[in-house]
Amino acid sequence: MLETVKTTAPVLILLGPPGAGKGTQARKLEEGFGLVQLSTGDLLRAAVAAGTDAGKAAKAVMEAGDLVSDEIVINILRDRLADADCQQGVILDGFPRTTVQAEALDALLAESGQKINAAVSLEVDDAAMVTRISGRYTCGGCGEGYHDSYKQPAQDGICDNCGGSDMKRRADDNAETVASRLTAYHAQTAPLIAYYDCKGALQSIDAMGEIDGIAQKLGGIVKAAIS
Ligand code: ADP
Ligand code: ZN
Repeated sequence: MLETVKTTAPVLILLGPPGAGKGTQARKLEEGFGLVQLSTGDLLRAAVAAGTDAGKAAKAVMEAGDLVSDEIVINILRDRLADADCQQGVILDGFPRTTVQAEALDALLAESGQKINAAVSLEVDDAAMVTRISGRYTCGGCGEGYHDSYKQPAQDGICDNCGGSDMKRRADDNAETVASRLTAYHAQTAPLIAYYDCKGALQSIDAMGEIDGIAQKLGGIVKAAIS
């Protein structure tokens, strides 16, 4: 009798400092590969907006540019991962951000016989991140990202993608908070590059160029990692 091979849904991780382009690239991978982008930053902002207990605990921490507690973030992530749409495969954007979170993710995936296909580190210059983040904004209607200097919509204030005019800037996208976020990244998240390297799951790409060029390189890595 032939043994049935259990196929598991792909799990990809995007690593990199704030402003590296994780969210932008995750959205492109969603379209290209039918995966679901899972951003703990977005989930936390939704919890803050909804006024849940987790959101109330997270609000001030996020405004200061510090990391929200592992417990809160792991719980939010675990709940979201259980949703039906995530069963087709996920791109984690902004999670894990600490070693405790990385270990929790491994344990969570092991429960369902899954593992990480690849962790891709987006390599960027720290100095450029402050400018990148300080100028960025997003369409509230569809989530398309824009930038004052690098990517303006064809018509000022109108989204190229959905025609909406509800542009939003994040409360933590100011120079002062960005500096704290970069510090938190180097102290708590950068060690994950070695963590995934030790597991043989790490890939790195230069993420200082054009969005489309980076997307192409990343697409190649993802294609190889999930096939
Ligand atoms: P960025 O990557 O640009 O900093 P995110 O939207 O990923 O933006 O995160 C915004 C904020 O949400 C972080 O500064 C942090 O306070 C909180 N946050 C998001 N993901 C995590 C996480 N995995 N662990 C702890 N805090 C998180
Ligand atoms: Zn839009």
